[in-house]
Amino acid sequence: MQKVLIIEDEPDMVLGLQDNFEYEGYEVIVARDGKAGMARALADKPDLILLDIMLPRMSGLDVCRHLRRNGVEAPVIMLTARGQEIDKIIGLEVGADDYVTKPFSIKELLARVRAHLRRASKQVAEIETYRLGDIELNFKHYQAAKEGKPLEMSPREFEILKYFIQHKGEAITRERLLDDVWGYDCFPITRTVDNHIAKLRQKIEPVPAEPQYIITIHRVGYKFLG
Ligand code: CA
Repeated sequence: MQKVLIIEDEPDMVLGLQDNFEYEGYEVIVARDGKAGMARALADKPDLILLDIMLPRMSGLDVCRHLRRNGVEAPVIMLTARGQEIDKIIGLEVGADDYVTKPFSIKELLARVRAHLRRASKQVAEIETYRLGDIELNFKHYQAAKEGKPLEMSPREFEILKYFIQHKGEAITRERLLDDVWGYDCFPITRTVDNHIAKLRQKIEPVPAEPQYIITIHRVGYKFLG
């Protein structure tokens, strides 16, 4: 479960954020002032931090600066009030990754959070090449070969395969694939996933009708075994 630290002093804002993030399956930690937030960020190692700028005891900007100096690399999204244009720029200068201006749409914030978490996890496990039976994959140059002969694959197919390899053995829902591979700014439907998987199987499976790499898990989604 991914951990989100919310550093915010407005009770209503905390409540709203906590509810929504917990509902989306995140573990939520809350700190209500800058100093407490600093301490929680260092002790609990959250995967992402939502950081208000106007905070008691230590401003959000100082918190962010201190976190970066102390080696905390988790994405930080600053919560700014309307009219704090200057703060936005400074926020990025102190090492924040993004900001949203209050009042913001929770849906948009969640989408950004997913995008940042996705980017952060990609940085951890970047892969360049992979061998799948007689297929060689090069993710850096988007090239594939089967038994030494070039194999045509679209960039999206490379991305799906890379995601599967990075999450080998995990049951992955279609929604998660859409979120993590297609991204929050696209709105394809789950059927799109199935179409892409079918095409991928034609290309990489020795017997596409009896897949051994991309397995269907009934009512859930897919699992990669390769
Ligand atoms: Ca505040």
